[in-house]
Amino acid sequence: MDLNDTPEQAQYREQVRAWLEEHKSEAPDVDALSEDEIVPARRAWQGKLAEGGLAGVTWPKEYGGQGQGPIEQVIVNQEIAAAGVPGILDVIGIGMLGPCLIAHGTDEQKSRYLGPLLHGDEVWCQLFSEPAAGSDLAAVQARAVQQDDGTWRLSGQKVWTTNAQFSTYGMLLARTDADVPKHKGLTMFVVPMDAEGVTTRGLRQISGEAEFNEVFFDDVALDADAVVGTVGGGWGAALTVLMFERLTIGLGAEGFGYNAARFTKAVAQDAHARRDPEVRKRLGDINTELLAIRFQSYRVLSALSQGAIPGPEAGLAKVTTVKAAIDAGELIADVLGPDALAEESEWAYMISFLPGLKSAGGTEEILRNTIGERVLGLPPEPRLDKGVPFSELKSIEKQGAPA
Ligand SMILES: Cc1cc2nc3c(=O)[nH]c(=O)nc-3n(C[C@H](O)[C@H](O)[C@H](O)COP(=O)(O)OP(=O)(O)OC[C@H]3O[C@@H](n4cnc5c(N)ncnc54)[C@H](O)[C@@H]3O)c2cc1C
Repeated sequence: MDLNDTPEQAQYREQVRAWLEEHKSEAPDVDALSEDEIVPARRAWQGKLAEGGLAGVTWPKEYGGQGQGPIEQVIVNQEIAAAGVPGILDVIGIGMLGPCLIAHGTDEQKSRYLGPLLHGDEVWCQLFSEPAAGSDLAAVQARAVQQDDGTWRLSGQKVWTTNAQFSTYGMLLARTDADVPKHKGLTMFVVPMDAEGVTTRGLRQISGEAEFNEVFFDDVALDADAVVGTVGGGWGAALTVLMFERLTIGLGAEGFGYNAARFTKAVAQDAHARRDPEVRKRLGDINTELLAIRFQSYRVLSALSQGAIPGPEAGLAKVTTVKAAIDAGELIADVLGPDALAEESEWAYMISFLPGLKSAGGTEEILRNTIGERVLGLPPEPRLDKGVPFSELKSIEKQGAPA
């Protein structure tokens, strides 16, 4: 792959840079805002980015996007980072749930939801994980039962729902048939987060933030047209979301802020550490992994730009970036001592947030299993639930199967 911009890409970059130069004074200074002010300010900024064509870059033009490719998305990400302004707020909505609506939604759903989502007027959340369904997502137990008039009643619990506390809508995976194998009895729904019977409770992390939530559904009424795709076809819709999640994380790897120069500078502040061969070796290992990820991202981009959908190897970027960043956090804590975790330390958030990032978007073990099976061709894990109706699975009996 040629890593330089083509003339068209260079021109596109110029255009993006010029827009950012003109509008960056309107961007919110998140460090100066209170917790309550940040979300409204970032939603408004997302609206501005959308007006300028810098949100939904890869969405088709008919839905308000720019109809551009993944390379242009990366150019926008790079220029936003270089301008030092915040990016879009609703990464999950624009990066993962909107594309699922585009792929599986009805014309009415697309015209109702996509515009406000893109412009930050309505934020969306992903209601997939449950206490007993994370890695094994197809084991979800939230249950939706269709009524005689075609509407639905939804009950159950979700957990780890990022942004649910200020979302207008959630995209929710529920079980609609327990008498078929687990992947086949699922349906995807659009759920208004202010519907009667929806309760959202924040979960505070060790980093001090409360980015995600547990959400309870107590006999919530949903319209017949809340179904995304087909009844029983929820797993296909979920896979679309998960594929875009992998892409969003893969393409965003450089944007995590976990870069070699920053880590090296922190460690080099300490005169002793600077000369310590063990410290230098650990730093060398971290930098090598981050460099490998940069080239792996180019391979993913290269595949994307040729119209291919990256396979399970895209999960490598996430596993390796998070591992390198955790190693860097440990090294910085060893060199700086307890100061690294002090409230005002620029490293405190990163170090305390990283263990969580190991789980988000697929855990390290699951991604490694997938890479082992589907990239390296190793023997698959034994699967005891294959072809067995969900209601007959042993673990479900223990937890109480949905009727
Ligand atoms: C920051 C963050 C944000 C998130 N945001 C959202 C969100 O917005 N919406 C949403 O729906 N979910 C969200 N999640 C949830 C996330 O998708 C789950 O945490 C993830 O799927 C893992 O599920 P779990 O936490 O239930 O862990 P479990 O699946 O219970 O796994 C526990 C441990 O067992 C290991 N394990 C499980 N199965 C296997 C296996 N077959 N082989 C080997 N090891 C295994 C796992 O690797 C892990 O170490 C978020 C999570 C985090 C941390």
